[in-house]
This record gives sequence, structure tokens and C-alpha cells, in this order.
Amino acid sequence: MEDCIFCKIIKKEISSDIVFEDNNLIAFRDINPQTEQHILIVPKKHIANVTDLGSDDTLNKIYNATKQIAKEQGFLDSGYRVVVNYGRHACQTVFHVHFHLMGGEQMSGRMG
Ligand code: 5GP
Ligand code: ZN
Repeated sequence: MEDCIFCKIIKKEISSDIVFEDNNLIAFRDINPQTEQHILIVPKKHIANVTDLGSDDTLNKIYNATKQIAKEQGFLDSGYRVVVNYGRHACQTVFHVHFHLMGGEQMSGRMG
């Protein structure tokens, strides 16, 4: 996808603060962090929405990366939140599926 911002980050055409990368996934710090630690975990394959995931083991890989990154970044024990925005009501803005990994501070109990 030529005009996808996350594809450009994956191809290193746009710089980002990468915290994890393997053959399938990349994770980098959100440019507009909502919490002390705010990392986006992104499959390298261009998949627009979380609703298009499922038939392969990408979700499992993301799950494992989530724990690994939280451990490496020092917030596994204090806890974290994983958020996926899909569609209009959730205010999705980038249409290349990504998981927000948020932590490093006390968050509100309210999520809506
Ligand atoms: P969404 O609203 O689609 O769930 O989240 C998109 C996220 O991508 C936002 O939190 C936004 O700050 C982040 N973002 C958008 N463009 C860039 C960028 O060029 N670099 C980085 N690191 N994050 C971005
Ligand atoms: Zn893309």
C-alpha cells in the first residue's frame, strides 16, 4: 500500500522509534503518546482492520510480542492495557491494523 503511513514506517521510509522487530511484526512508539509508555504493535503485512485478522497466527504473535515488549520496557509487573480501535465509533485513524500497548503509569478505570 503506497500511501499507508505504517507501511512506510515498516519500509523505513519514515523514521520511528522502533522497540521491537522480527520477520512478522514491528513495534514503535506512538508519535502522540496517551500514556507514559505508548507503543504500537503492527503486523508487517498490510491488513487494514482487526476484523480481517484471524485465519493465521498473527494474533498469537502479537500476544507474545505484547508480553515481551512490556517486559523489556519494564512495565510487565505494573500492568498494561492493549487497545485496538476498529471503525468510526472507536475513532480508528490509521487503516493498517495496530495494537496500542499502553502502560508505565496509573490509568483510569474508565475506557470509553
Ligand atoms: P488509531 O486511532 O488508528 O487507533 O491509532 C493510530 C495511532 O497512530 C495514533 O495513536 C497516532 O498517534 C499514531 N500515529 C499516526 N501517525 C504516526 C506516525 O507517523 N508515527 C507514529 N509513531 N505514530 C503515528
Ligand atoms: Zn500498510
